[in-house]
Amino acid sequence: MDIRIGQGYDVHALKAGLPMWLGGVQIPSETGFVAHSDGDVAIHALCDALLGALALGDIGHHFPDTSDEWKGVDSKLLLKRVCAMVSERGYAVSNVDITIALQAPKIGFLVPQMRACLAGVMGIAEDRVSVKATTTERLGFVGRGEGCEVWAVALLVAE
Ligand code: MG
Repeated sequence: MDIRIGQGYDVHALKAGLPMWLGGVQIPSETGFVAHSDGDVAIHALCDALLGALALGDIGHHFPDTSDEWKGVDSKLLLKRVCAMVSERGYAVSNVDITIALQAPKIGFLVPQMRACLAGVMGIAEDRVSVKATTTERLGFVGRGEGCEVWAVALLVAE
């Protein structure tokens, strides 16, 4: 059986007055992410996991932040493009697992919405999409409310 695993990691800084998108869902928050795109750091880590599984580089390579084409882009569109690359190469997404570290606001109640959204964009069942939210117990840059950190892994199987 031909299976591939990939991991992704991303960080975005937080700033007052910006929109906050995570896992394709807009989060009610007084702070949001500094970014060239919509700043959905969870989707960015997920894209890097999917690309990493096929050794296709990272999202910065495919969607450069120097390009006006991707300015303010909805990250769900980037995820859709990455999923197309995966299927073009003959693979299907078996499952993904995402961990979001954010001190505030609390986002746990939005996890079901994120899972549904990501599953929809990827065209896979919701029980193949795991999203976990944690704080860092007020430690480090995440704990000080300076940013958000996300890890993702993805497993692909050859079709
Ligand atoms: Mg990013």
